[in-house]
Amino acid sequence: ADWAAAVAAIRGLPADGRVLLICHVNPDGDALGSMLGFALGLRRLGVRRLQATFPGPPEVPEPFRGMPGLDLLVSEADADPEPDLVVCFDAAGASRLGGLADRLTGPGPALVLDHHASNTGFGDVNLVDPAAAATSVVAEELLARLGVPLDAGIAECLYVALTTDTGSFRFEATTPAVHLMAARLLATGIRPGDISRRIFDSRPFGAVRLFGEVLGRARLEPAAAAGHGLVWTYATQDDLARHEQRPYVLEALIDSVRCTAEADVSCVVKQTGAAEWAVSMRSKGAVDVSRVAVALGGGGHRFAAGFTGRGTAEDVVNSIRAVLPGALIGDGTS
Ligand code: 5GP
Ligand code: MN
Ligand code: MN
Repeated sequence: ADWAAAVAAIRGLPADGRVLLICHVNPDGDALGSMLGFALGLRRLGVRRLQATFPGPPEVPEPFRGMPGLDLLVSEADADPEPDLVVCFDAAGASRLGGLADRLTGPGPALVLDHHASNTGFGDVNLVDPAAAATSVVAEELLARLGVPLDAGIAECLYVALTTDTGSFRFEATTPAVHLMAARLLATGIRPGDISRRIFDSRPFGAVRLFGEVLGRARLEPAAAAGHGLVWTYATQDDLARHEQRPYVLEALIDSVRCTAEADVSCVVKQTGAAEWAVSMRSKGAVDVSRVAVALGGGGHRFAAGFTGRGTAEDVVNSIRAVLPGALIGDGTS
């Protein structure tokens, strides 16, 4: 990673320079947390003209509405058209930035912070560490190299990012370095119980009922995933409407599906348009779901990936079944 170039890009900002921070569409905890934590760090560094944004409707999912730094958020329409520096978070490619991708072509340089192995290197300076558990790991290191001390606001944002992308320190990427980072964040006095309850354990009752219905139609196909089990379900826009729920509540659905012991691969197909679906996939090890996602126009990590599907939910699952055999890792551990 080109730390020196990244530090130089920030130190080289003109006096009163304008910085635009962008995270990926449908932002998750890592996207918002790394972006807002880094933005608060830049503010500590004396950068005053700061905007944070993401493509699409400027709606922050309810679980993230208590995060520090949200005052820096602007809608895509209000985002600076000609910032002196662009910083992108948790996006593997420019396509994840929607209409904001045009900011990559100048006049200011674009700095990319990410941890996707499939990152296309779309920035002028790319800090991409596929071994990092979250983009916030990269963000914390860059703040340290800039000499920005952690405060509780920065730490809370980075902690939200770290816990969401590690599944609350359960996934394989949870290295000793991750726990050491968590220790540095907690040492600022942030309250992990409060944060986790807000992020993971606060759901409207309507969402609980909606989950019941959607989980009730889950299907288990014992051999579909290249000889391993596949479990999947789908949720329609009508399901959301009947239970009066916002789409973000479905983000947690994959966690209730992937616990199926008989399945190595799990999948949730979420309707986003008449014939358009956002697909979430998870693997326990035998299958590289990022290969499935990339084959179908998306991306992600080996054990967590996604793409946009077309047609009916059954069409989408058929397309997954078709490419699953080619995504078998082998011995399931490498
Ligand atoms: P999730 O299922 O939590 O939405 O996403 C899991 C992983 O897949 C994330 O790392 C995310 O970056 C990636 N991902 C999800 N949807 C898409 C997509 O439509 N396109 C790409 N390129 N990556 C996606
Ligand atoms: Mn993300
Ligand atoms: Mn991430």
